[in-house]
Amino acid sequence: MPVTATHGTGTPPADALRAAGNSTTPQGFTAQGITTHGITTHGITTHGEPAFDGHHPPSADLVSDCVHCGFCLTTCPTYVLWGEEMDSPRGRIHLIGQGLSGEPLSDSMVTHFDRCLGCMACVTACPSGVRYDRLIEDTRAQVERRHSRGARDRALRAAIFALFPYPRRLRLLRGPLRAYRMSGLQKLAARTGLLRRLAPTLATLESLAPRLRGVPRPPARVPARGARRALVGMLTGCVQSAFFPDVNSATVRVLAAEGCEVLIPPEQGCCGALSVHNGRRAEAQRFARRLIEVFERTGMDYFVVNAAGCGSSLKEYDELLADDPAYASRAAAFTAKVRDLAELLAELGPAARRHPLPMTVAYHDACHLAHAQGIRDQPRALLRGIPGLELRPIADPEICCGSAGVWNVLNPAPAAELGDRKADAVLATGAELLVTANPGCLMQVAAAVRRRGATIALAHTAQVLDASLRHLGPEALLDSR
Ligand code: SF4
Ligand code: SF4
Repeated sequence: MPVTATHGTGTPPADALRAAGNSTTPQGFTAQGITTHGITTHGITTHGEPAFDGHHPPSADLVSDCVHCGFCLTTCPTYVLWGEEMDSPRGRIHLIGQGLSGEPLSDSMVTHFDRCLGCMACVTACPSGVRYDRLIEDTRAQVERRHSRGARDRALRAAIFALFPYPRRLRLLRGPLRAYRMSGLQKLAARTGLLRRLAPTLATLESLAPRLRGVPRPPARVPARGARRALVGMLTGCVQSAFFPDVNSATVRVLAAEGCEVLIPPEQGCCGALSVHNGRRAEAQRFARRLIEVFERTGMDYFVVNAAGCGSSLKEYDELLADDPAYASRAAAFTAKVRDLAELLAELGPAARRHPLPMTVAYHDACHLAHAQGIRDQPRALLRGIPGLELRPIADPEICCGSAGVWNVLNPAPAAELGDRKADAVLATGAELLVTANPGCLMQVAAAVRRRGATIALAHTAQVLDASLRHLGPEALLDSR
């Protein structure tokens, strides 16, 4: 379904959007190659290797499903920002088609693929059911194996992937981060802009890091309160466990209150979501095999996830390990048990008593929950089930906040612009509390709200339910401002 473009700086002109929405031929395509609003694909030659090899290339059939209607364009955050055909889903699909027809993988092509946030808003918008998610995932895996990146990009990506998928390493950052904040250096860096000038990536990471709370790690097994309705394995996550341990604690309490016995093996690691979303398929497969081994021993009925990005990749373990004879059927069995927290609670139905929370709440759809998993109604229904809670809609809910895994670290400037747009839309609701179900979104929107000099309390859906079940009142949630 086409949506209204977000207005503001960088929004493409209305006639460009109209033309994009109605055209049957992607604008800017020429017989010689591709020239779009200021971006030319320099570097495409007919002498190099074809873009894709035979190991899981993007599917030509999926490419041919695209009828170039343009309905996806105005939901695409990069098209909304720049109005460039090659930075739209349709343009990227065209580039993939060029690669399949034997064009080499040019730097310019890779740039347009890299600029995709992987938000999957285009999958929701597409009336022809084009599986852009499959196309970009296969394309990215080819890019990572076959394209040589510049030294700075290589170093940055190496650092990111040596840190983010490892919860213990992330937890080690908590001490220095707390010391940096308490020493006054943070305020000095913010006042002078020194850190942003010297190390913009570090400045972005620092601005995203949430307020740190010391919360004990949940035990390996938490019994159900009352009669047991399900045996549930739980992912604690990497960023979630290092920076939002209170979200995990709330998740465990809510599950137990709703009659779930919760299993949390401490030896669990990363689910591989960041890796697979960035084309590092072999690494993602290693993480997936390990997680399956750890959890299949538990005999769980369900595997519950409270981070949208993790949930979307866990639901694709069957595809990720389809070629592995030792794991294909185990991965399929595992995938069938994966549920987002809101999805599972909706499936089980409420058992514990909800106490009133008289407050206004804006619910933000995390892209990997709404677009990638189709979960929109369940979290809203859970929130509406709390007496006194008023839910307010956020304008342009389809458009990504700019977090997108590590996209905001790799692309700080456009990510900040998307974050600012989302912060404006959130603040316009006048709600007291912003609720979402992904740690990346929480950090991204919080940073953007701070840049605006505004304040709003933030919480995960689990924390709101937890506050209601424990009769804590709105103050427990508003304290996070
Ligand atoms: S996944 Fe998001 S950023 Fe990428 S093409 Fe689709 S809408 Fe655009
Ligand atoms: S991806 Fe879907 S919505 Fe976008 S241009 Fe192709 S067919 Fe149309």
